[in-house]
Amino acid sequence: MPPSIPSPILPGATLGILGGGQLGAMFAAAATRMGYRVEAISDIADCPAERICDRVHVGDYADAAFLARAAADMDVVTFEFENIPAAAGRALATVVPVRPHPDVLFTTQDRAREKAFLSGHGFACAPYRVVRSRDDLHAAVRDLGLPAVLKTAAFGYDGKGQAKLLSVADVDAAWAALGAGPDGPRELVLEGWIDFDCEISVVVARGLDGAVAAFAPSRNVHAHHILDVSSVPAGLPEPVLAAATDTAERVLAALGVVGVACVEFFVTRDGRVLVNEIAPRTHNSGHLTIEACETSQFEQQVRAVCGLPLGSTRPVAPAAMANLLGDCWFAGGATTARTPDWAAALAVPGVRLHLYGKTEPRPGRKMGHLTALAASADEAVARVVEARRRACGVRQA
Ligand code: AMP
Repeated sequence: MPPSIPSPILPGATLGILGGGQLGAMFAAAATRMGYRVEAISDIADCPAERICDRVHVGDYADAAFLARAAADMDVVTFEFENIPAAAGRALATVVPVRPHPDVLFTTQDRAREKAFLSGHGFACAPYRVVRSRDDLHAAVRDLGLPAVLKTAAFGYDGKGQAKLLSVADVDAAWAALGAGPDGPRELVLEGWIDFDCEISVVVARGLDGAVAAFAPSRNVHAHHILDVSSVPAGLPEPVLAAATDTAERVLAALGVVGVACVEFFVTRDGRVLVNEIAPRTHNSGHLTIEACETSQFEQQVRAVCGLPLGSTRPVAPAAMANLLGDCWFAGGATTARTPDWAAALAVPGVRLHLYGKTEPRPGRKMGHLTALAASADEAVARVVEARRRACGVRQA
């Protein structure tokens, strides 16, 4: 007999979210609208989820007794940030269902494990070597050639813990900066440089019954390693989009994800798709689904982790999203933060503003985003970029 699917967790139940950032807040907004209670678990007070959740439990992710107390009223727990110790997910899983399973967090929060998973399952990715010493790094550079990118295996995001190596003269400095940690050598991954045509990502939901629903691939442009602008449709040939979608769905199935995950790709100049990274949660490139799709990535996460039918991912219009980093508050080289001109931004037709309620703007910190719908992706991009220019001035436009 096939394993039975547990009954769905219905509105009125309490959903838990591990992490208190903007992804948790947008999940909570979708879940609250649907009639759920939402409680977050965060290691910092005054987090974006606090504005929307019914309750935030603030404590140490390493404290299993705290986690068990926090989860006492929760019917299911999901997460919004992968740099949470997998042990915290495992401790929670002893008292409440955690979806996706903490093993997914364990695999994807470490680049060496993630790459081993991808290559072990035959998913194409950039050539790489795991590096544990300066000698390893020199050998890896000889194997892969230059340019190459050195990345810390653990706790990297938004380009933190990365260095591009252009010549052999860079190798020792890169090892000193990233590898030689204060508590001994850190594990690193060296990746061959991909001279990509563009970057895309696919957000996919996968239900308890194995059903999958992918959103249309989004075209992503990064600035200083941080996502800058996403747009849909991605404007690529259908076979490229189909290959990315099919790969993303197979990645979620191979990981056994129940919930939402995002697979990021490099599209090579000859039209191949190489997996760059997997995020086992909703993703910045999927924020435009709030306005642009019949079901948003956040509602989809609620549906997936509650065992409900997945919603339609059909786009209602071409769309674009531009991130608002803390830099926007320091336009023109201002030394103290000034409020951006939101009224001017909102005068651009089709533009919607999302601010995450973070009190302290800092350069590189994601403070919010703008989304625009339009008749084409190019027009939507022009609208969000113009709206951001009006809000922030030249600094982040
Ligand atoms: P990551 O944090 O690994 O997603 O890297 C952030 C960004 O750096 C990517 O979105 C790319 O724009 C760039 N990047 C990372 N790895 C590579 C690579 N192997 N080849 C070319 N560009 C890369």
